[in-house]
Amino acid sequence: MKKKLLGNTGIEVTAAGFGVLPMGPSQLALPVEEGAAILRHALDRGINFIDTAQYYQTYPYIRTALAGGAYDHVVLCSKSLCDDYDGMMEAIREAQQELARDVIDIFLMHEVRPGQLEERRGAWQALIDARAAGLVRAIGLSTHHVDITEAAAGMKELDVVFPLINYAGLGIRRGDAFATADDMLAAIRRCRAAGKGVFGMKAFGGGSLTAHYQQALDYAFSLPELDSVMIGFGKVSEVDDLFDYLEGRMEKDYNPDVSNKRVYVNQEDCEGCGACKNACPAGAIYWNENGLASVDHDKCLTCGYCSPVCPVRAIIMY
Ligand code: SF4
Ligand code: SF4
Repeated sequence: MKKKLLGNTGIEVTAAGFGVLPMGPSQLALPVEEGAAILRHALDRGINFIDTAQYYQTYPYIRTALAGGAYDHVVLCSKSLCDDYDGMMEAIREAQQELARDVIDIFLMHEVRPGQLEERRGAWQALIDARAAGLVRAIGLSTHHVDITEAAAGMKELDVVFPLINYAGLGIRRGDAFATADDMLAAIRRCRAAGKGVFGMKAFGGGSLTAHYQQALDYAFSLPELDSVMIGFGKVSEVDDLFDYLEGRMEKDYNPDVSNKRVYVNQEDCEGCGACKNACPAGAIYWNENGLASVDHDKCLTCGYCSPVCPVRAIIMY
């Protein structure tokens, strides 16, 4: 698979990376050996870039897949939602220990929202110090927000940005409002001009665009502004589909069967705003005991109407 240098980091990554979130406890909850086997399959086929997060609880899959030393070249990215110095330092130590790596290649502030660059400055200082101490090689942030991506372009110490981008603009925000793929692309270009490495997330909009598989990938892989596109995998066949696509073997009318997929609300992200409940034509969304949205699968039509209106991309399909 083609590789690119990730901005000015000196780190070389493959055009596609492996997002580990889908196999973890918040989605498919695969047994560790099964998830590790999918990871090894992708690495053996040539992917060299893995993305995870403290919050995903997926370190055991990666540690198991990488055990034995044959995959020491693989670039690992993790991230943490914590906002203070000590919490971020602890998150890095946890990743080092749980991933059995002395140095984590890339460590990010996870899902930065408007106002948080100031609120989380302790965590950011920890990343700067961790890089200076050689605990991590590159630092940056992940975000769904155009305004944060724009701000990242001006952050002198920042090496890499991991923004949300897909052809439909699903989940892209500017402040409290929805924004477009073109808005995000303009912000990404500012990051590129500033020498930042950029890799894209949610090419399938959290699963809502999987039925438009090739259209989603055509867009993501056509963007020269992205050094890599992170794709979430939960099956060996999904890895093979991607290679068929990238190597030009996929039939033009092929799209994966998504009939067995279900819609879920990520409880960590939901803000209880009610937009999905109002948009649902089937009355399938209800308030759970925590005051957050949940989906009644007996009523859900998997129409996807709820997904684009969610301001925080809490609605996912897998
Ligand atoms: S996919 Fe459609 S039916 Fe299911 S919860 Fe969303 S809006 Fe309602
Ligand atoms: S639209 Fe999103 S944030 Fe709002 S209640 Fe629904 S899932 Fe939660």
